[in-house]
Amino acid sequence: MLVPLKKLTRLIPLFTFILVTPSLIAAEVNVYSARKEALIKPLLDKFSAESGIKVNLVTAKGDALLTRLKSEGLNSPADVLITTDAGRLYRAQQADVLQPIASEMLSESIPAHLRSPENFWFGLSVRARAIVYSNNRVQPTNLSTYEALTEPQWKGRICIRSSSNIYNQSLVAGMLATQGEKKTASWLAAFVPNFARPPQGGDRDQVAAIAAGLCDVAVVNSYYLGAMIKSSDPKQQAAAAKVGIFWPNQEDRGTHINVSGAGVTSASKNREQAIALIEFLARSDSQTWYAESNNEYPSRAGVDPGELLKSWGDFKADQVDVSELGRLNAQAVMAMDRASWK
Ligand code: FE
Repeated sequence: MLVPLKKLTRLIPLFTFILVTPSLIAAEVNVYSARKEALIKPLLDKFSAESGIKVNLVTAKGDALLTRLKSEGLNSPADVLITTDAGRLYRAQQADVLQPIASEMLSESIPAHLRSPENFWFGLSVRARAIVYSNNRVQPTNLSTYEALTEPQWKGRICIRSSSNIYNQSLVAGMLATQGEKKTASWLAAFVPNFARPPQGGDRDQVAAIAAGLCDVAVVNSYYLGAMIKSSDPKQQAAAAKVGIFWPNQEDRGTHINVSGAGVTSASKNREQAIALIEFLARSDSQTWYAESNNEYPSRAGVDPGELLKSWGDFKADQVDVSELGRLNAQAVMAMDRASWK
């Protein structure tokens, strides 16, 4: 049956629309994520449901993903890199696997010190490196700063993971950025001899060591304590119940923080979709989800961090530009090495 001409002309704009937007119909974005699937997938699914953009997710360890991006070069299928620690994001930027993006939404919602000054990456959640202490053996009134952990009263009482861990490297880099080389070196020289044991294990293991009586204080990322409190493993819960959390350096520069964040890869073939995804992750509702499921802090102001984090109280965070943590990483590693931090 022939369609009357009048009807056909009315249909033409519709056909044109369909023809010029094939990329929207087949829209997808490929994500390399150092965040575990359970900690990111529900958000990505929500993004797909809202935008119609399919997300293909590859998860691996942060350093492995960076190696992979470097070896794939411009042939990489990845559009977005999601990874933890500004040190790693900075390394990715230095390795030319990220490209700068212009997004008014991101520049307005993510504070300047939590993103790359050149817009290569954006901090989407904040992690704080706190002091945890034994509820039985430590009076929190005796705690004050990272620097004060060098006092003789802490001799043989501190647990902390190894210097090969980027969280500690960033902690020291932050100190280099704010206190300078000389003060950092003296801090390290007095801090390391106070360790209760050779550095070993992850942050959760330090909390467990306090609970087991092997040490009395530890420096850990607060979300690990959150994960232990919410754990389904009664052993983890019991260990977490034996410690309190203390925010150091409240009278001066603030507690050391870091970010986990995302950037668009240099190889991205779906740049628009990649930016849309990062903008989605920076939205207030996404940030609340991040806080509630990862126990990290939102990177944008005014976002509800959920009950557990609220119960730990507000704290003053170090305002140093987190990209400095990346820039000073090599120097931090050398300083730790000189102080024999294993
Ligand atoms: Fe971690």
